[in-house]
Amino acid sequence: MKNRFWQYVSIALIAITAFPAPSWAAGYTQTKYPIVMVHGFLGFESIGPLEYFYGITSGLRSGGANVYVTTVSAANSTEARGEQLLTQVKQILAVTGAAKVNLIGHSHGGPTTRYVASVRPDLVASVTSVGGVNKGSKVADILMDNAPGVSTVVLGAVANLMDIVSGNTGRPQDAKAAMTSLTTAGALAFNVRHPDGVPLSACGEGAYQARGVHYFSWSGGKQITNVLDPLDAPLALTALAFDGEKNDGLVGSCSSHLGRVIRDDYAMNHLDEVNQTAGLVSLFETNPVTVYRQQANRLQGLGL
Ligand code: CA
Repeated sequence: MKNRFWQYVSIALIAITAFPAPSWAAGYTQTKYPIVMVHGFLGFESIGPLEYFYGITSGLRSGGANVYVTTVSAANSTEARGEQLLTQVKQILAVTGAAKVNLIGHSHGGPTTRYVASVRPDLVASVTSVGGVNKGSKVADILMDNAPGVSTVVLGAVANLMDIVSGNTGRPQDAKAAMTSLTTAGALAFNVRHPDGVPLSACGEGAYQARGVHYFSWSGGKQITNVLDPLDAPLALTALAFDGEKNDGLVGSCSSHLGRVIRDDYAMNHLDEVNQTAGLVSLFETNPVTVYRQQANRLQGLGL
C-alpha cells in the first residue's frame, strides 16, 4: 500500500516536470511591440476597481507583455473613435520608443483598431478583433430600423453615464453616429473605405496580412454560460435578433470574422469575451484570459 502511494507520487512528479504547461513559461506573452487594448461601444477603461478587460491586462503583463489600455468615446462613429485611438497610439509609441503596436479591440473596438491600421499601417504590427462588429450587428439594425429616436436617446444617456462614472468626462458622445456605424449598412460602408483583413465571402476568413499588418479574430457563439451572471439573460434576449444564426448575444459569428479566424464558437457571450461580469464565465470553456495570453504568444511567435 505504502509502495503504491509513492509510486503514484513519483508518477505525478514526473508528469509535472515532463509536461509543464507552456503558458507557465516566463516570457510567454512577451511581444516585441506593445499591446494596446481598445474597448467597445459603451465601454470604458475602468469603473473603480472594475476594469473593462477584466483580469486580462494583468494576465498579459504577468507573462512579460507591455500592455496599454486606451479610452475612446463610449459612443461615437468608428472614424471618430479611430482618430482618438490614433492619437493615443502615437503617444504610446513616443513613450515606449517602439516602432509599432499590436492592437486588440473588443466589439466596436474591432473596427476602431482597423481604422488606425487602415490609415497608418506603418504604425501597426497587428490587429486582433474580439467579438468585432466587422459586418455590423443585427441588434443595431433592429433598433435603428424600429426605434432610432428612443434608442439613440437611451444609449446616449448610458454613454454619458459611463463617461462620468469611469472618470473620463469630456470625450464627445454621439450615440446616433455610433449606432449608425454598428448597423450592417454602416459597417459595410466603412469596409469599402477600410477593407484590410475583411473577408470577401460572407463567412470566410480575410487576408492574414494586408499592407504589412497581421489580422486576427475570435468570438463566442453562446449566450447563457454562467448561471450566476445576471447579464447572460439580457444577451439571450438580444440573441433573438439573429433568427437562429450563431452569435454571442450582440454580434453574429460571421460578422466577427477578420483576417485569420482563431475560432468563432467559444462557449462565450459578448461579455465573456472580456471576462465579464467580473470573471463570471463558463467553467467548461478555455478561460478568456488564457485566450488573450495565447494570442500574445502567437504574436511573439510571428516576431511581432
Ligand atoms: Ca459572463
